[in-house]
Parts: sequence; structure tokens; C-alpha cells
Amino acid sequence: RRLGVALVGLGGYSRDLLAPALQLTRHCRLAGLVTGSPEKVPAWQEKYGIRDANVYSYDDFHRIADNPEIDVVYVVTPNHLHMPQTLIAANAGKHVWCEKPMAMDAREGGAMIKACRDNRVQLAIGYRIQHEPNTRRFIDMAAERPFGRIVQLRADAGWFGWRQGADDAWRLDPARGGGAMYDMGVYCVNAARYSTGLEPVAVRAWDETARREIFRGVDETTRFTLEFPGDIVAECVTSFGRNLNTLHIDCERGWYELSPFQSYDGNVGRASDGTRFSAQLGEKPRMQAEQMDQDALAILEGRPPRAPGEEGLRDMHVLDAVFASVRSGNQPVRIAG
Ligand code: NAD
Repeated sequence: RRLGVALVGLGGYSRDLLAPALQLTRHCRLAGLVTGSPEKVPAWQEKYGIRDANVYSYDDFHRIADNPEIDVVYVVTPNHLHMPQTLIAANAGKHVWCEKPMAMDAREGGAMIKACRDNRVQLAIGYRIQHEPNTRRFIDMAAERPFGRIVQLRADAGWFGWRQGADDAWRLDPARGGGAMYDMGVYCVNAARYSTGLEPVAVRAWDETARREIFRGVDETTRFTLEFPGDIVAECVTSFGRNLNTLHIDCERGWYELSPFQSYDGNVGRASDGTRFSAQLGEKPRMQAEQMDQDALAILEGRPPRAPGEEGLRDMHVLDAVFASVRSGNQPVRIAG
């Protein structure tokens, strides 16, 4: 059986990546839409053959509870809406897939996990690169440690993302979860965690925003240092003003890296002993198709997804500490959770 997926929010990521990816999936299919933009609906219905009965507005979204064709609600809206929309979907008895960052903070993330648990539905976070084969290899290497102890790592993630969704520029709005840290910094945090297999204990962070005339109340560039058990340090930079896409791991007896490590077309990398990391899923949107198929199989087989809500929550605790460190004048802040 294929699970029916309803996309919430028909913006750039839904339109250009997720809906096309849902044409490639084997275990789920695009079955419904939830949108605040009725003018977009006819073109989507025609392109993807979606019935009138499976189209909802944000106001009547809760009625999705009565629709047996929808098994999963995928939340793909600006970040401040992830928590309230996840609660609506979970209370409607639907499994939830939610884009990164999971929420605005750890408190919201915890509420999302609780709502899904209370309603006995799954919650998976859209960490597409955790489904990418070279990243899977890095996750395994965290346990195998082929070059000995990890000493330090660097994770840099940036793009000119503030221009995206420019019709309304929510990525520049602090109230809607704008800024580079929420958008791309979360990749650095997630990568530092899966590359070490450890949870960071403290962080120091610096807001290095250069263009305050554009970035008002949100960060253009944030630099942060994560401290892990065993004296492992992760140096991270995230930015809306530069393209950055490297994950580099230094060990006792060598190094390995993925560059890019969060590209839509897949990641590639190498190691100090000449190893190449070149497994490929195929061009975009194969990674998103793999992610949704894996998450659909987790539901169908009744096992946890690769990136459950708890995985998103760990990152939210780190983000909370990063913002607290910036506010405190770059003091080290212990990470909760
Ligand atoms: P976008 O601006 O292109 O689309 C956002 C959509 O939400 C639009 O259709 C807009 O109409 C709708 N919307 C509903 N309420 C809104 C409000 N109050 N303000 C603004 N828009 C509102 O953004 P996007 O790039 O599609 O990003 C959506 C989500 O997907 C974000 O959480 C983002 O982090 C995530 N995303 C993830 C990836 C990934 O690789 N995993 C890539 C891109 C975006």
C-alpha cells in the first residue's frame, strides 16, 4: 500500500523538490494539499491529479481527520508554523513529517513530540541528507573510527537563502524563524552530532552579521563552537551571505570530509588515505524521494523513522543555546536536553 501524503505550504521547496520527488516514490504518493493560496490550487490539481475533496485551507485543515486518503501530513511552511500545524495534523490522527528546523525552540519541539505520541502517530523531521549514502557512511564511521579518535571537526553551511521566498521574505523576519542559524546552521549542528555520534555539552556563538540594513533582528552570519565529550570541538559557520558547504573531520591518524555535504544533487568527499566517498542516489529530487520512501516504510512497518522528532529536538536544544550565547555576549552556554 502507498501512503497518501498531503503537503502543507506550496512554496518553493514543495513545488520544486517534494512534489516532483513524490512522483518518484514507491511507498507514498502526493494525495492532498493544504494551502493559504487558493490561486495556486488549480495548477497543482491539474499537474498532480488531486481531487477537490483532498484540498484544504489553513482554516479547515483540521477536517483532514475525516479523510482516509491522507495518511501523512508534511509541514513545509515557514518555521514559526511548524509547531501549530504539526499539532493540528497530529490531533487529526495523521502521521507528521515536518521540515527543518523542527520548530522555533526546544519547548515547541517538545510539544510536537508529545502531541504525536499522545495521538499515536509518527513524527519525522525532513533531514534529507541523513538519507544520502555518503552521509550514511559518515554516520557509520562515527562508531567505526577508522582514523582513530576524532579530534575536531568543521561544518560550514551557507547560501543566499534570504532571497528565497522573496515575495514575502519570511527568511528575514525574526517572528517567522528567519535568519541563517535556523535555515542552515541546523545542518552544521546536525552534522556535528551525526559525525561524532555524540551530543554536545556546551556552545559559544558569535553573530557576525555584516549587513544590518538587510538583516534586521535576524542573523546573516553566525559562528559557533560546539564542545563535545572527550575534548572534541566542532567549529561551525553558517551564513546567508556566502555559499558554504563543507564537513571536515580531523582524527588522530587522518581526516575525511564531504564537500558538499548538504547539496540537493548528493554529497561527495574524500579521506586522507585516498578513499573517495562517491556513492550517488541520482540527481535531485532523488534524495527527497529516498527520504520520503524511508519514512513511509517506517510507518508501514511500525518502526521509528531515521530522523524522528527526538532528533530534531536535540538540534533545537543546541539552537536555543546558540541564541542564548549570542545574547549573553558570546559566553559559553550549557546545552540542555
Ligand atoms: P517558501 O517561502 O518558498 O514557501 C513557504 C510557503 O508557506 C509559501 O507557499 C507561503 O505561501 C506559505 N505560507 C503560509 N503561511 C505563511 C506565512 N505566515 N508567511 C509566509 N509564508 C507562508 O519557503 P520554502 O523554501 O519552501 O521553505 C519552507 C520550509 O521548508 C522551511 O521550514 C524551510 O526551512 C524548509 N526547507 C527545507 C529544505 C531542505 O532541504 N530540507 C529546503 C528548502 C526549505
